[in-house]
Amino acid sequence: QKQVVPFQEGDASMIALLGGKGANLAEMTRAGLPVPPGFTITTEACLAFFEKGNRLSDALLEQVEASLNQLEKQKNQTFGDADNPLLVSVRSGSVSSMPGMMDTILNLGLNDKTVLGLAAHTNNEKFAYDCYRRLLQMFGSVVLGIESGQFESLLHRLKEKEGAHQDQDVTANGWKELIEAYKACILSKTGRAFPQNVYEQLKLAIEAVFKSWNNARAQTYRKLNRIPDEQGTAVNVQSMVFGNMGENSGTGVVFTRNPSTGENTFFGEYLINAQGEDVVAGIRTPLVIAALQEEMPAIYEQLLGASKQLEKHYKDMQDIEFTVENNTLYLLQTRCGKRNAQAALKIAVDLVHEGVLTKQDAVSRIEVLHLDQLLHRGIDEGAVIDVLALGLPASPGAAVGQLVFDADTAEEWVRAGRTVILARTETTPEDIHGVIAAEGVLTSRGGMTSHAAVVARGMGKPCVCGCEEMRIVPEEKRMFAQNRLLEEGEWITLDGATGRVIAGAMPLIEARMTDELLIMLEWADEIRTLKVFANADNPHDAGIARHLGAEGIGLCRTEHMFFSPARLPVVQRMILAEDKEARLKALAQLLPMQQSDFEGIFEQMDGLPVTIRLLDPPLHEFLPNLDELQKRHAQLTYERDGSIKEKEEVASLLRKVQALHEANPMLGQRGCRLGIVYPEIYDMQIEAIFRAASTCIDAGVRVHPEIMIPLVGHANELKILRELVDFVAQQVLGKDKLRECPYKVGTMIEVPRAALTARQIAAHADFFSFGTNDLTQMTFGYSRDDAEGKFLTHYVNHKLLPHNPFQVLDTEGVGQLIELAVNVGRSVKPSLKTGICGEHGGDRESILFCHRIGLDYVSCSPYRIPLARIAAAQAFL
Ligand code: PEP
Ligand code: MG
Repeated sequence: QKQVVPFQEGDASMIALLGGKGANLAEMTRAGLPVPPGFTITTEACLAFFEKGNRLSDALLEQVEASLNQLEKQKNQTFGDADNPLLVSVRSGSVSSMPGMMDTILNLGLNDKTVLGLAAHTNNEKFAYDCYRRLLQMFGSVVLGIESGQFESLLHRLKEKEGAHQDQDVTANGWKELIEAYKACILSKTGRAFPQNVYEQLKLAIEAVFKSWNNARAQTYRKLNRIPDEQGTAVNVQSMVFGNMGENSGTGVVFTRNPSTGENTFFGEYLINAQGEDVVAGIRTPLVIAALQEEMPAIYEQLLGASKQLEKHYKDMQDIEFTVENNTLYLLQTRCGKRNAQAALKIAVDLVHEGVLTKQDAVSRIEVLHLDQLLHRGIDEGAVIDVLALGLPASPGAAVGQLVFDADTAEEWVRAGRTVILARTETTPEDIHGVIAAEGVLTSRGGMTSHAAVVARGMGKPCVCGCEEMRIVPEEKRMFAQNRLLEEGEWITLDGATGRVIAGAMPLIEARMTDELLIMLEWADEIRTLKVFANADNPHDAGIARHLGAEGIGLCRTEHMFFSPARLPVVQRMILAEDKEARLKALAQLLPMQQSDFEGIFEQMDGLPVTIRLLDPPLHEFLPNLDELQKRHAQLTYERDGSIKEKEEVASLLRKVQALHEANPMLGQRGCRLGIVYPEIYDMQIEAIFRAASTCIDAGVRVHPEIMIPLVGHANELKILRELVDFVAQQVLGKDKLRECPYKVGTMIEVPRAALTARQIAAHADFFSFGTNDLTQMTFGYSRDDAEGKFLTHYVNHKLLPHNPFQVLDTEGVGQLIELAVNVGRSVKPSLKTGICGEHGGDRESILFCHRIGLDYVSCSPYRIPLARIAAAQAFL
């Protein structure tokens, strides 16, 4: 099997085998561009190397030797030859670009003998020894693992001795002296001399590059960029050209457009008389590329021409490495250049206007990461970043504030003009005012669908949750990150896009809805068929959602309307009512509050569907915490002179809270079960919806309410509640007005049994909305509140699962249930409308799946809408 491919035999389509660099070198060779000849050792060879316990097979070594012989013929030089030696570079080249993460060795093939040949052949002793000392240093640090500072300090000492300011001021004799010092260093650090056998050098270098795939920084980079570990890296062996041959030589990097603004201007830097790594290492300050136009006008023109050609060929901005050897230009690499979010959009839009790309190409290229950067505030990554801990990236965006540990303090401090970060072990509905006040939220427990995460995402507020490395002690108003103590009032920064908790107040970069983004979104809308709705629970969020492009509301969680400090006591009265009469009294107070919210939402969404979910969570979520109540009760019992009234009140409250307490509340008295046992609650909510509809119709607003019943598991549940909706609608609106209010009744599918019995359920439903948070919880049997902190993160880190299923939809299992329910449901009711409203509705990969199985819409929090519009278009392409 062929594990080595010469440049002239490959092409860009072979990227999985040759890696990005190898495939592009082959493609450039084919296009007739001046690329020094060489060959690529494939990623398959790399995987075989790992499989053999980090050993190169004899078969591979034979192929390398054969390719090297071919290269010798092309260059008319011989590897290891004392007169005219062939020198090569050995460089990594993975499939997904990982700039700077892996290893490179230059000038391989030099030893005590060949260096003489190189000096004689080029008639340049100083140059030859410069190459040799570079090889010793790179080989020493990269292959032999000696700390590069060791070499740096020897070099520094030599330069001082010679009075040389810059590397190129060092004399040939100086280099010779340094070479001896380097050799001695290698011997003393490794117990072995630097290998004089050039084949031995090559073998060790290839092994080192393969191994560098698994170095710590490469692993971290892959994790961050979701690059699979199984890809492996290719190795490119290329004949050397020399930018360090004198004043007619040099090396540099150019971008075909500006990578930080996207402007269509040639951009880059170079150094005269230098070798590749000098530019990157920042040893000397490089010149801007425009200066080359004066210094070497012919080379500049040739470089510009080749760059334009490459950009056109790859239809994207290129990042090109070049070397000039004695007034001859060589290209050493081209790749699609890294760029920031705004530049990415500008370049794509410009390329469409220039006729290079179609709109479809441009839209399909947009990266989620870039959208996150553009749509949310970010951290200025140029600043020094002191990461305290890593949690779950629950809601993107960066936030800076002073630490507070309870919601009341958060509110107070903000009222006093401060900015705060609210840190809690977990948040509950009672913390809501603190969440509203804070710039960002940090929790040590709870996952991607925990209360804190869902609420923060809905508000577009940065949130890091489930940060288990951190111990938050709200009672003591402090928290611990590793060995560090952080107290109330200290400044911290949260990065909700990566989950980083950072010490101090970092400089932030503001979000921007740029012209280019608006253009892209328009193009995406022309392409996509999947509709995008919003999860929004109040008129303000509904307004934002519509502004960001929502085509309706897919989930209005009515319980969120109950969480404000003004309403919570009424809700508690309703729940704690001793009898129906008392409950009805409290409900009557709640009705106008809900009605006015619905009116506001209908107005904002004039003409668009508004899906309203009736009350869903277990009632105890609205009540005081049981533990705290028990503590307070015990305290009062021991207090001799406490007020009797308070004692009685607390005792009675405790009794009721205990009565409502459930061992497993997520599987308990919630969703439609609540509405069936206490029909007066749903009755009130339905009445509020239709009263709001009536008022809006009178005001000329076009209303399309869609009433959604949560947590249905049996068709009978939906049947009963649908009858209730129809009955109340009749009562409130009367026959005539009903005609102006085309409402729908549907259900969430979030219990596996509902998916399995979709046939029976569809008979009573106008729509299915997949609540994939609960559906994931119940299909896997993983608690959505606890799993991440307990074992799920471990599962993902150890690759038992490809993703956190609460973040990226598990298409294999949960997805199967969804697909089944959609197909069966439609077979009995072709008009059945289908969508998804769990947190997955804002995740790109999950959106691709939703399109594939033919859902009508996805619904996500308002700030995810631009991303969902783009992803929906990408799904179509
Ligand atoms: C769901 O379960 O996916 C859902 C949207 O409902 P909630 O998150 O409110 O339980
Ligand atoms: Mg749910």
